[in-house]
Amino acid sequence: MKIPRQYADLQCWLKSIIPSDNMEDYLLMDYMNSGAVSNATGTVQSSDVLHCELFTKDHVYTISAKAPIVGQYVCQSCGTKLEVSFIDIPILHKVQCDKCRKKEAILTHTTGGYLGCIVSERKPRAGESWTRGNDLADGDFCEETWLAILRDIVKYEMVKIASKIVRKNIELSEDMPRVGADSATE
Ligand SMILES: [Zn+2]
Repeated sequence: MKIPRQYADLQCWLKSIIPSDNMEDYLLMDYMNSGAVSNATGTVQSSDVLHCELFTKDHVYTISAKAPIVGQYVCQSCGTKLEVSFIDIPILHKVQCDKCRKKEAILTHTTGGYLGCIVSERKPRAGESWTRGNDLADGDFCEETWLAILRDIVKYEMVKIASKIVRKNIELSEDMPRVGADSATE
């Protein structure tokens, strides 16, 4: 499946963590789009949503993304503020200024977009018929949110050091023979 053009940023972010040129080796995608619609107040809304699933040994991470609808820009040359509609086009990080005609207007923020992630265990725990899950970071559709999600994923994959190992080291630090010392002399 091809990632829709308005999700070009997300495609770049995913590419940076997927260990294959063929993203589909590691990624399941589900795209829903019922097109741009005008609501009662005449505001154009886009209902497109992209879901991506990434797997680790024990967990599945579901990333939900909604591309922004509008981007707000400020011209670095003359200070003019302008807005650009993103419906069905990639997010433009720099555009031409309406006033001075220089391509110096920088994207400052976006509205209407979303990026979030949930995690689920891939199999139920003993005695449970459901799989446990948690909400991870979410926020605007931007790199900052993506990095917050990545941090949460790394945190979720961390495993505790077995407490027995710590205890054994303490016991052996005094005058107890080391495990393996006896068998080595036999
Ligand atoms: Zn300008």
